[in-house]
Formats: sequence, structure tokens, C-alpha cells
Amino acid sequence: MIGFDVLARNGAARCGRLTTAHGAVDTPVFMPVGTAGTVKAMTSEGVAATGARIVLGNTYHLMLRPGAERIATLGGLHRFMNWPHAILTDSGGFQVMSLAARRTIGEAGVTFRSHLDGSLYELTPERSIAIQHLLAADITMALDECTPYPAPPEAVESSMELSMRWAERSRRAFVERPGHGVFGIVQGGVHPDLRLRSAERVTQIGFDGYAVGGLAIGEGQETTFAVLDATVPALPENRPRYLMGVGKPADLVGAVARGIDMFDCVLPTRSGRTAQAFTRRGVVNLRNARHAGDPAPLDPQCRCPACTGYSRAYLHHLSRAGEILGAMLLTAHNLQYYADLMLAMRGAIEAGTFGDFAADFEGEA
Ligand SMILES: [Zn+2]
Repeated sequence: MIGFDVLARNGAARCGRLTTAHGAVDTPVFMPVGTAGTVKAMTSEGVAATGARIVLGNTYHLMLRPGAERIATLGGLHRFMNWPHAILTDSGGFQVMSLAARRTIGEAGVTFRSHLDGSLYELTPERSIAIQHLLAADITMALDECTPYPAPPEAVESSMELSMRWAERSRRAFVERPGHGVFGIVQGGVHPDLRLRSAERVTQIGFDGYAVGGLAIGEGQETTFAVLDATVPALPENRPRYLMGVGKPADLVGAVARGIDMFDCVLPTRSGRTAQAFTRRGVVNLRNARHAGDPAPLDPQCRCPACTGYSRAYLHHLSRAGEILGAMLLTAHNLQYYADLMLAMRGAIEAGTFGDFAADFEGEA
């Protein structure tokens, strides 16, 4: 069981606090993605310096290399990656569906071949939960099937029904420990009726938190928001809600306005490795020649190492020269931008001005 207290509300948006075995996490929160036991191009100290107190770990990558049993022997994922704060692990399902070489989905689970060496694995709800236990995740995710988009409604429905049966098995397999919890995942594609049915099913099973999965895979922001409008009101008020794999800054603001508390996305870290920087004035491409002679910081209001110590000209030079430091500095900046955006949203919710904040943000973005 993990704790969750709603501390302030403003419309459907809320501020809360998760209490885990590895400390408290203020929500709404953005979780940096630590795919293979590392938030790419960042030290764990650097991630914590942005204010982050929870990161996401990927079960698929870690089960293949170095292996969940090895990480458990070495004291769990927190110690392995020197991250003393909270960790949420995904179920592995999403990567199995998207990365694994030959995969076969059946009632029992998924069999697949590793994209690394072709060896055969089976991932069932029970095995996914056991792996996440070995990793010592504070928050464990139920195994679900990621329905492709677009897909015919009958296919979305049977996929959702399979995910609900896997959700029950995941819940049963989870071993209760203080400060640790398991989240269920709502599926159902872009169909409000299926989403509603799925939300009712996962709520009936009863989880520590509720995720909305299967979005941000090409359906567009308007559709994402419409699905949230149909889904979120059916989820328990007193439990955290997690929108998986989303997204752009404007997506986060719109989802918080609809009552979402938690997010993860590779966008800030991946963009940091391609010279794209998120700023209060929109996305800046540091490869652009106009930065070559600019002594100004990327964002004078930002407190990250890239903005306090270096010029746009230097960041431009690093990215053109393919220097590793460019990826490191811009990843730190982008994670700081996301952390500060969440901080600003929490402040606006507490002040009762979130409506204005969201309207202003839309105007800027
Ligand atoms: Zn910065």
C-alpha cells in the first residue's frame, strides 16, 4: 500500500502527495524515464538536482540486461542505480509489443525473442509482477496489452478484455509490502464506452493507483483529452491517476486540468540528445546557425547547469561537434523545464489560479 493524500483542488486539477517506501512525491509529477537503469545522459544526482523524486524503470530492458535476479542480488534497482528516491517500473508490456522480435500473445501472456540476442522469454502477468518485485519498485504496474492504433472496435474490445483479465492476475500476484503499491491500467482505445467499462473493471479489482494507457500513440491531443474526459471521472477520487507516455508540455497542462496526477515520457530526455530544448518561449533547436555567436543563456530564468553556466553559442558548438556534453547539458535543462512546469502547476492549483495558468500556457505554446 502506498499513501496518497489530495492536498488542494482547483476545478478537476489537484495537488497531492504520494508516500512510498522511498520518500514522498508531490503531484502533479513528471517522472523522468530511466529506461535501462539510467536516465540517459544524467547521473542520479543530476536527476535529483532537478527536484525529481521519482523515476521510471523499464522492466523489459532490465529483465533482458542485466536481469532482474542479478539486480535483486545487488540490492535492488535503487541501490544499483544509486537512486535513493521512489521508482515506478512499467510492466514490460509496451516494449515487448514494440521492440521484441517475434512475439506471440495468448491468454497466458506473451512469448517473445529478445531484441538483443534473439533468446526466448515468456512474460506473464505473474512473471512481470515478480520481476518488478525483484527490482524493488515502489510502484508496480499491472501487465496489459497495448492495443495498436488504429484498430477495429472489436479488436480494441477483446484486447481490453484480455488486459482486464491480466489486471486481475497482476493484482493477485502482487505481494503487499508497506510503502509499495500496484497500479491497474485502463485500456479501450479511443472508444469512450470501452474506456468507461475498463475504468469500472480496474476500480472493481481495486488498485493503489489507476493509469490510463494506450494513448499518445498517434491519436492526437484532442482525442487524448476526449478519452480523459470519459475516463477520469470514473476513477476513484482518493487514488493517484497516471497518464502513461504523455507528453508535450501542453499535453501535461491539459491532462492536469482533467485530474491527472502523474506522467512519464521520453520526450525531454530524447530531445536533449537531438539538440531540442524546451523553454518558456517554445522549443529551441540549438543546431540552428542563429545560435552560433549568441553569448546569451538558453533561458535566463532557468536554474539548470546549462543555463547558469553556458551560452547558446557553446551549446550550439557542442551539438554541431557531436560532443557528449551537449546531450548531458540539454537533457539536464529539459528535465529542469519539466520539473519547473510541474512545480508551477502545483503552485497555481494551490493558489486557485490554475484556470488562468492553463489559459496563459495555451496562449504561449
Ligand atoms: Zn536550463
